[in-house]
Amino acid sequence: MMCAIRAGKRGRSVLLLDHAKKLGGKILISGGGRCNFTNLGASPNQYVSENPHFCKSAFSRFSPQDFIQLVEEHRIAYHEKKLGQQFCDESAQQIVEMLHSECIAAGAKFQLECKVNQITRDEGYTLETNLGTYHCDSLVVATGGLSIPKIGATGFGYEIARQFGLKIIPTRPALDGFTLNHQDAGRFGDLAGLSADTIITTNGISFRENILFTHAGLSGPATLQASLHWNSGDPVQINLFPDLKLFDWLMKKKKEGNKSQVKNLLSEVLASRLAERFCEVYYPDQKQMPQPLPDVSEKMLEVFCNQLQAWTIIPSGTVGYSKAEVTRGGVDTQELSSKTMEAKKAPGLYFIGEVVDVTGWLGGYNFQWAWASGAAAGEYA
Ligand SMILES: Cc1cc2nc3c(=O)[nH]c(=O)nc-3n(C[C@H](O)[C@H](O)[C@H](O)COP(=O)(O)OP(=O)(O)OC[C@H]3O[C@@H](n4cnc5c(N)ncnc54)[C@H](O)[C@@H]3O)c2cc1C
Repeated sequence: MMCAIRAGKRGRSVLLLDHAKKLGGKILISGGGRCNFTNLGASPNQYVSENPHFCKSAFSRFSPQDFIQLVEEHRIAYHEKKLGQQFCDESAQQIVEMLHSECIAAGAKFQLECKVNQITRDEGYTLETNLGTYHCDSLVVATGGLSIPKIGATGFGYEIARQFGLKIIPTRPALDGFTLNHQDAGRFGDLAGLSADTIITTNGISFRENILFTHAGLSGPATLQASLHWNSGDPVQINLFPDLKLFDWLMKKKKEGNKSQVKNLLSEVLASRLAERFCEVYYPDQKQMPQPLPDVSEKMLEVFCNQLQAWTIIPSGTVGYSKAEVTRGGVDTQELSSKTMEAKKAPGLYFIGEVVDVTGWLGGYNFQWAWASGAAAGEYA
């Protein structure tokens, strides 16, 4: 829609085809129904791509402030939740309505429930669909990624890219929960619903946010962020006490003559069910566990604290496209012009948004890429 607005304003005749019944399905379900539509701090640093420089050109021409200006012009109330994340006060529906009305004002037309069966290239591009044949000079592919197939996500964009000889960076679910191996799922699965403030680290990249225990493994914003940087087999380290040097804290209590059990002391700084479970699983000497602090050796305390301050898991995988917020990978940016989003091998064919190998962190970054890349293509398509 962002591309349609820009192209329509240039006087292009624009038809937007979508096989879905409703416009902007992902916008509607985003941000818990309030759409985290951009992030004030968006910069190339928060995106994962084989070519991290590719997104710079589009971002330099369409900033978070540009989108906010549109939101303000449409008198949509919004607020910052945290870390630069901008949300609607009321409903994500307002963003869809805003984009739709801007498209209409720019003269763009819509054809929903339109399934494209075949594309051929001649003078321009010819599309065979369930609603007839369409011809166009410029074809912009904005089919998104594979996440959430039940609301219409498909791999069609990747198929089009392959048809025209464009390389695809392998895709996989990202901004997704982790599944735990059988042993860890057995140890922690019944803690589903509990959360903890943590620092999570994988492949040298850390995030400070909440993890949420689920029946299958871990979710919550920290986990989703980590999943974007995680590759199968990589360890994930979780600091369950981001503001505390646990060993020093317990040693201080020990020196002060505190006679509490370690489990009870941990409950002061961690949800008590978590404290209890981590003691059951990791306390070095289970038989001695109920012992009061003065009886616990310094060595044992150190081993235990290190384990909790750097709790290390090797996820068995991520939950998958049914839950993942985005798809990592996609159309190789080497194949596209960063200025126009046009395919170098197929003049008149453009790729924008999530179908391209540019994937943002959690926090409004993926919409910002969709808007910016759409605006870039809309200036040329
Ligand atoms: C649950 C959830 C919450 C999210 N929350 C946020 C958030 O708050 N902030 C944020 O920045 N990002 C969020 N995202 C990510 C964001 O929604 C996407 O990155 C963004 O929508 C990508 O935009 P797009 O236009 O490239 O693709 P999409 O928005 O996925 O649009 C693709 C369109 O193509 C259509 N289509 C697909 N295949 C075909 C076909 N074969 N024929 C015809 N039409 C087709 C689909 O019906 C769809 O309408 C969230 C994602 C999910 C799943």
